[in-house]
Amino acid sequence: MAKLYFRYGAMNSGKTTALLQAAFNYEERGQRVLLAKPGIDSKGADQVVSRLGVRRTVDFLIHPDDDVQELFRAAAQGAEALTPDIPLPRVACLLVDEAQFLTPAQVDSLLKIAVLDGVPVLAYGIRTDFQTKAFPGAGRLLELAHTLEELKTICRCGRKALFNGRRVGDRFVFDGSQVAIDGESVTYESLCAACYLEESQGRLGQGALPSAESSRLGTSKPTEGDLHD
Ligand SMILES: [Zn+2]
Repeated sequence: MAKLYFRYGAMNSGKTTALLQAAFNYEERGQRVLLAKPGIDSKGADQVVSRLGVRRTVDFLIHPDDDVQELFRAAAQGAEALTPDIPLPRVACLLVDEAQFLTPAQVDSLLKIAVLDGVPVLAYGIRTDFQTKAFPGAGRLLELAHTLEELKTICRCGRKALFNGRRVGDRFVFDGSQVAIDGESVTYESLCAACYLEESQGRLGQGALPSAESSRLGTSKPTEGDLHD
């Protein structure tokens, strides 16, 4: 039986790079894959963009009211194909980037695509927002996925990063809307729990105040070993 996988990690844990590598591995074996991502992720428009600079156009974008199973089936049948009379090969895998931005109902559809349509679904995304709360799509994926796989990255202090700190300019902020795509004014830093708590002055979640000073812990250098704890 095909499965739903949730491969999650903090910001900058190489999720999109891993997704593109997985697509490459399938295609190297002559298999067909489909790529999708939520339309809410304005970064890269209809492309997935890895930090290494590799990019690829998705087969379909998912908007908040969309039925993902319908979109998937249309794309799998080649509804947009130039030669609709020539049958396309069966889809070996559906890869979804930024899956934390899906609605819970859309994640339900991903499970149905895996179980009822028999196509493995690999969903990549961030587990929690800048207030340490699960994104709706990520929360549902944690509930439903057959397999959870953590993609690890390191905090500035060398520990494994767990949370995503939001910066506006050079200050960490702990209030604001859940979604603010990183760009010129807003950036994110992957932090371990200790560094997050230091920046937030011990607060988690809504109501936390920006720290007066963004004091830096890190003198130790990140090591590979820290990624495996
Ligand atoms: Zn840290």
